[in-house]
Amino acid sequence: MKQLHVYDFDKTLYDTPAPKQPAEWLYLKNLEQAGPPGFDARWKLPYLLEARRSLQSIGVVTILLTGRPDYKAMRDKITSMLRNAGADFNGFYLKPLSMNCPVQEYKAKVVSAIVDDDPLIDKVIMYDDYAPNLEAVKAAMAYRNIPCETHLVKV
Ligand SMILES: [Mg+2]
Repeated sequence: MKQLHVYDFDKTLYDTPAPKQPAEWLYLKNLEQAGPPGFDARWKLPYLLEARRSLQSIGVVTILLTGRPDYKAMRDKITSMLRNAGADFNGFYLKPLSMNCPVQEYKAKVVSAIVDDDPLIDKVIMYDDYAPNLEAVKAAMAYRNIPCETHLVKV
């Protein structure tokens, strides 16, 4: 018995300032001012605490799964922000630049690959502020007969 807990980043763990243009998600611009919890009120503490609880639980694999593009500066920024916030995830998944598909499809692929690789995982719990991401993962897990509990995070 093992569980996989999946956390989104933007607007789930961190209330990122809204970009003026959608393309800003591709850059670090809207994370430049970020600081640790206690100094930076943009952290969404209830979900950050939930992530820490997941990380401390026995038999739980806890991952960060974001649609942000995977390149060194972005990966470094997100991993260091989360480590400084006391959430050193078991895995940090950013969307490969080569992967030209919608974010929900990417997220379903990552979660599917993890559970396909580890047959002991018999439940998935996911937190995301974007309903299509939750629905895509839920559908992929239903196909595998793996219960999937989804939490739509309020923005
Ligand atoms: Mg989000």
